[in-house]
Amino acid sequence: MTIKMDRIPRPGESITGGQFSTAAGGKGANQAVAAARAGGRVTFVGRVGNDVFGEERVAGLAGDGINVDHVVRDPDSPSGVALIFVGKNGENCIGIAAGANEKLTSDDVLNAKREFEGASALIMQLETPLETLQTAAELAAQAGARVILNPAPARELPDVLLKYVSILTPNETEAELLTGIKVDSASEAQEAAGNLIARGVETVIITLGARGAFIANAAGSQLVSGFKAEAVDTTAAGDTFNGALAVALAEGQALEQAVRFANAAAAISVTRAGAQPSAPRREEIESFLAKQ
Ligand code: ADP
Repeated sequence: MTIKMDRIPRPGESITGGQFSTAAGGKGANQAVAAARAGGRVTFVGRVGNDVFGEERVAGLAGDGINVDHVVRDPDSPSGVALIFVGKNGENCIGIAAGANEKLTSDDVLNAKREFEGASALIMQLETPLETLQTAAELAAQAGARVILNPAPARELPDVLLKYVSILTPNETEAELLTGIKVDSASEAQEAAGNLIARGVETVIITLGARGAFIANAAGSQLVSGFKAEAVDTTAAGDTFNGALAVALAEGQALEQAVRFANAAAAISVTRAGAQPSAPRREEIESFLAKQ
């Protein structure tokens, strides 16, 4: 929920004259929507509160063709929200209350076991508890599904989780937090990726904003260049990248080709405002790629 105003109120101050808007977000939901629009058959496992925000969001996901049978309504916690003030110079101030997201349990995941059995890929991020992610990763590994982890928002991760990760997709900041290596150049990206591979990750993809993404695994490493785009809003570029990547890999595209597809989806998304509204559909991604 965003209010745009001349300036951000100070503590104790009330200012009138703002413009209010709402937009759907949350990393997991953004990634699910990006995957569904990119052509994936998606099941979303998550929690919302038993409130109007939760109802509206579940309906939104279903509207994108996502299976919401495993979205739990938490009776005691509100839906996760972010309250955002944006000043006229674009500066912002954001408060996030994770609410029901923090209550997603291993049992919620285990209840979706049947969905894991038919899945080619599991994609997760860090807005839900680590213990729950561990359960999901193990379940996916048993089912033979590829585990993709987008380590955002940045936090440290235990090696017991990393060893289940087929593909880890940090941005530069997250790669630095995970490895202590500041990623500004290809050689630093290589070093950070090597560190994560040594901890058990199979393939590391470090997203580099407009420059594209650096990929590394035992077979080698390379930069997959990004596409030129008139960026107006880079919110959720990473989420769109991840959702599209999961679909391309699930379809059996080779790693480099899948990253190119994800770069294209994310490049389209930065030319539009908003998180979920900016995620492109399959046809758009394909016609964008055909023009390159
Ligand atoms: P995050 O949004 O998580 O910080 P990045 O900024 O690394 O992640 O962006 C993720 C991906 O989005 C990049 O790998 C690239 O494909 C695409 N992207 C981001 N910014 C731009 C841009 N200005 N122009 C074209 N593509 C972009």
